[in-house]
Amino acid sequence: MTKRLILFDNDGTLYQIPRVFFNTVMDNIYSGIIKATGKSMEDVLRENKALKEKYKTDLTARAFSKEYGFDLERFNSHIYENINPSDLEVSRDQKLESLLGSLEGEKVIYTNNHTTLARKILNSLGIEGLFEDVIGVDQLDYFSKPSSQSFQLVSEKVGLSNFDEVFFVEDKGINLKPARELGVKTVLVGSGKDPGREYADFLIPTIYELRGVIQ
Ligand SMILES: [Mg+2]
Repeated sequence: MTKRLILFDNDGTLYQIPRVFFNTVMDNIYSGIIKATGKSMEDVLRENKALKEKYKTDLTARAFSKEYGFDLERFNSHIYENINPSDLEVSRDQKLESLLGSLEGEKVIYTNNHTTLARKILNSLGIEGLFEDVIGVDQLDYFSKPSSQSFQLVSEKVGLSNFDEVFFVEDKGINLKPARELGVKTVLVGSGKDPGREYADFLIPTIYELRGVIQ
């Protein structure tokens, strides 16, 4: 029997991100940084871009933790444990649950979210139990997609070479690039206008069409 692994991105792939979502998450991160550094909101907003460039990260909390020397793990645990899923306006999706339940193979979440946040979202969608593992950026030394280090680390974690067939399902084409270079079958979820379309082996408009690609 073919041993199959399916890697899934979370945000924008398994659910459409509600407008309130990023604001709620970012509000929590900003107020945490204000508390940890004693800075004003204006200063935090002003420094954000430069610090992300300085530390080569697109993660605000990581950039500030490096600059101001606070413990990122503790910071993140506090932030994400305090986010209430109902504030994120993500709700149960039975159609998605039955689709995922019908797919053979191991299913793993690979996301730039913090693992705690990702699990809360999956729980709200009613699908957390369908995944063998949930791997967030905090488990990948904070290397985020689309870096090749990120994909390298997730590959080691899941034991990619033990599988006969690997799929990776994502809503951002560029994030598929390192996987495709290693022979993973890449599935892009979206309209096809994505500039990273060239890195996708398959294109589907929404996750609900996944059965057309993976039988
Ligand atoms: Mg995404």
